[in-house]
Amino acid sequence: MTTPSVAPITVKTGTVAPLDPALNQCKELASQNKKARDDVKNQLNAQKNANGGSLNQADAATLAKAEGSGMTFSSAFSQVPGTEGMITACSSGIAQGKSPDLIVEGGTVEQKGGLSKKIRTDCDSAHDEAKEVAGVLCDKSHVHPGGGAGAHAEPKIVNHLTNLVGAEKMKGGSLLFNIDWQSAKYGPSGMPCQHCFAMLCHAAQECEIRIFICSHDHQPVELSKDDCKDDDAYTNLCKRVDGGPRPGR
Ligand SMILES: [Zn+2]
Repeated sequence: MTTPSVAPITVKTGTVAPLDPALNQCKELASQNKKARDDVKNQLNAQKNANGGSLNQADAATLAKAEGSGMTFSSAFSQVPGTEGMITACSSGIAQGKSPDLIVEGGTVEQKGGLSKKIRTDCDSAHDEAKEVAGVLCDKSHVHPGGGAGAHAEPKIVNHLTNLVGAEKMKGGSLLFNIDWQSAKYGPSGMPCQHCFAMLCHAAQECEIRIFICSHDHQPVELSKDDCKDDDAYTNLCKRVDGGPRPGR
């Protein structure tokens, strides 16, 4: 049983709802994820039917992932000043192209592509431009790892919001995520992967953005700065988000 980290929203007549993420928003974000996944499946199935029951290889693989495992949809409720609102992203670029009204593209090619650890940790000024172009979050202080993790759904949300407001303003406020990860290994999970976890910790620790992740029972679980310092941080978060030490619910 997870203890809610913030009080549920109460709206009084004539007042604005408090800015804290709350229970109802987790459910709303879950339905956004479902709506986007369903739309991708519907678009591809319609395309398949219109084409006599066949799809090209890439589209067929995308449909199989959308219906099975290997494709993540994430929706977030942003209260980072200047970016307020709901946003949905998907780990598949092809899926995004099938439902561009519901799913954001999620940043530039360079942001999604990230940079290798060797380049990210090398202080040589020769890499400054590449880091500047790929950088996201406050003052472009974070670059996603190379190899594909920058094109996961949660980084795409962060990339999009960074570009929306400008990196110098991508700080403060809060982000509430609802992650629909259908893992071949673990089954359904609401956890970010280790790379995305590290990125969210950076947002919390360096950019003063309060990060919340919706739990299996629709509670906003806060990723506190202390969580990120702990060696068992990922496991601890997983217990609160998925209800056990390993992803899966
Ligand atoms: Zn990830």
